[in-house]
Amino acid sequence: MIIKSAEFVCSNTQVSKLPPPSLPEYAFIGRSNVGKSSLINMLTGKKGLAKTSQTPGKTQLINHFQINNNWFLVDLPGYGFARVSKTSAEKWGKFIRQYLSKRENLQCVMVLVDSRLEPQKIDLQFIDSLGELGLPFVIVFTKSDKQSKGKTAQNVQLFKNELLKTWEEVPQLFVTSAEDKSGREELLEFIDSVNQS
Ligand code: GDP
Repeated sequence: MIIKSAEFVCSNTQVSKLPPPSLPEYAFIGRSNVGKSSLINMLTGKKGLAKTSQTPGKTQLINHFQINNNWFLVDLPGYGFARVSKTSAEKWGKFIRQYLSKRENLQCVMVLVDSRLEPQKIDLQFIDSLGELGLPFVIVFTKSDKQSKGKTAQNVQLFKNELLKTWEEVPQLFVTSAEDKSGREELLEFIDSVNQS
């Protein structure tokens, strides 16, 4: 897929105020600092499109971007801030669950996972919650330029092993880097193929 246009549409704190579900939608989510903004900017080729890291305590926003006038890319607030209160974590959970369960044009949740780390409980728990909601998802490993290919492959394998403890099959996996743009074509091709189906 060639990105011809990528425009910011709106930011929301309320699911009831999201733009009309007129286009297929892909939601990007992951632990805070996983590299979500960098990945969105890399995919769209627009450096400042997604703003880097929201800090704890700041309003959590659902950001919509319209790509090529034919699909929405959605930037969801990250989870797992180190110093967040239990109340804010619960508020995040409610907000995201509401979005995930109500958004009828949502095609796929792109779950971002840091490729430098061994499987993290918080990511696996979030993936399980997607299973409970019956939502399609893929795993996008980020920051692969930060270590050797061997180390990335090892962490990907460990993650697959963890998933196979609860899932019968492993979802589609993508290894990416916002730095060297690896995985960009594969991810955009995947979105294209879902849009065409
Ligand atoms: P977010 O909080 O998930 O939106 O994460 P950011 O996109 O703000 O990235 C967090 C930090 O990781 C920033 O310092 C980025 O420059 C860095 N980062 C993100 N993606 C990559 C990547 O693919 N490679 C490298 N080397 N650094 C990255």
